[in-house]
This record gives sequence, structure tokens and C-alpha cells, in this order.
Amino acid sequence: MMPIPRFWREIKQRYKGIGSVCKNCEKMYFPPRKICPECRRESFQNMEPVELDGRGEVVTYTEIHEPHTEFDKHSPYIMAIVEMKEGVRLTGHLVNVDLEDVESGMKVEATMRKLGEESRDGMIYYGYKFWPVDE
Ligand SMILES: [Zn+2]
Repeated sequence: MMPIPRFWREIKQRYKGIGSVCKNCEKMYFPPRKICPECRRESFQNMEPVELDGRGEVVTYTEIHEPHTEFDKHSPYIMAIVEMKEGVRLTGHLVNVDLEDVESGMKVEATMRKLGEESRDGMIYYGYKFWPVDE
């Protein structure tokens, strides 16, 4: 695996993924939910926000060749499903690594990033970006 450039190592931008945890059954949800589908009524007033640590492991990944308007500059790119430390799974771009160096169980760190903006209604789309980290 290529050494991780200083730029990425020194990035201090913390991941701002907020999920919620049900205090009744301790299940975690991301994106956050107001009601736990398992506990339903008992989960009322029992959902607490929780910030994801941002660290996780690659579960599976694939290289995408299909051009996509939002990703033109990045094509082809690697999409990965990552299981976060907290047990929730997120899908996002895997960057700063070559496809042949990617493997399941690889430790990554996540951040949110802006994917694009819908000018008409001002909608902003966010996605996840993952990059490899040293353990
Ligand atoms: Zn619950």
C-alpha cells in the first residue's frame, strides 16, 4: 500500500455523523430516528443523539466506471460499504488508495463532503468519503 500523504494524515476535520441510540434496547440508528422501530411506543423520549467516531472497516467495495455528472472529475472511483465502529453501515467514496490495495477489513476514517448543489431549490447533497488510516 502506498504511504498515506501528509495532507490526509494531518487533516483535522472531524466526522460529523450524528445518529441516534434507543435507550430502551441500545440499538443505534443512522441516520437518526425519532422512534425505534423495535420498541416503538417504549422508545418515545428514549432516543438520544450520538456522534459517530468516524472510524470503521471496509466490508465490501467496487470500482465504478460509469460516468456520473457529480463525479466526473473522479471517474473511475471506488465505492465502499463501511461498517462503523458503532455497528452502522455507510456507503461512500473510498479515496486516496488504489483499487488493488483495497481489502475487506481495511481500517478507514470517514468524513462528510458536499457532493453537489441543486441550484433551483438550493438543495445540497452530502455524501461520505472514506480514506485509509493506520491502525
Ligand atoms: Zn429500541
